[in-house]
Amino acid sequence: MNDNKRRQIFERLRAANPSPTTELSYSTPFELLVAVILSAQATDKGVNKATARLFPAANTPEAILALGEEGLKAQVRTIGLFNSKARNIIKACQILVDQHGGEVPRERKALESLPGVGRKTANVVLNTAFGEPTMAVDTHIFRVGNRTRIAQGKTPLAVEQKLLRHTPKEFLKDAHHWLILLGRYVCTARKPKCPDCPIADLCEYHDKTPATAITAAAAPAAQDTGHAESIS
Ligand code: SF4
Repeated sequence: MNDNKRRQIFERLRAANPSPTTELSYSTPFELLVAVILSAQATDKGVNKATARLFPAANTPEAILALGEEGLKAQVRTIGLFNSKARNIIKACQILVDQHGGEVPRERKALESLPGVGRKTANVVLNTAFGEPTMAVDTHIFRVGNRTRIAQGKTPLAVEQKLLRHTPKEFLKDAHHWLILLGRYVCTARKPKCPDCPIADLCEYHDKTPATAITAAAAPAAQDTGHAESIS
């Protein structure tokens, strides 16, 4: 795909949604960090439900440490893998208190040294909490990047690096949100909704879904929330 096409794609995605953001609920960098750790292999909706209970009770590292591991587990037990996620969050809170004055660090290395925080989570926090132009490549972006040929690559890191290289500067900060939302709701894993896609004429996928297939599948597709996997 050439850079002119990429620019047109991002111009269209921006026109449709000028200020995209995560669908996770948060009001501080720390809340976002916790929400993203909880969202691995879980839906944003499920995470938001749990954090709506947790954050009013504890939304700082100190408060979560005071809650303790068992107290935290009780608040997030509706989320998949809650045992290990709660363990990681408690350990991360201790590091934040001991080494970062209770604040979420703005550096990748420091973020990635926190338990439960990998490159993708660090990218989400750096981008969404701190406005850094990072690309958090999740399953949706990986699929959309490869299908459309905006950024092809065999690994999430390869797709991330291509996106960083080829996305025009003015779109860098918001690009990953636009691509995640496109992948979550339009360019879905099963039967992408190509006839409804705002970038269909620019996308270079060779196996686009024909309009007739969408009409035939309309009823079941309407029941698909598109929340198969979170941003993290
Ligand atoms: S045209 Fe189809 S394959 Fe291409 S981005 Fe849109 S939904 Fe995905």
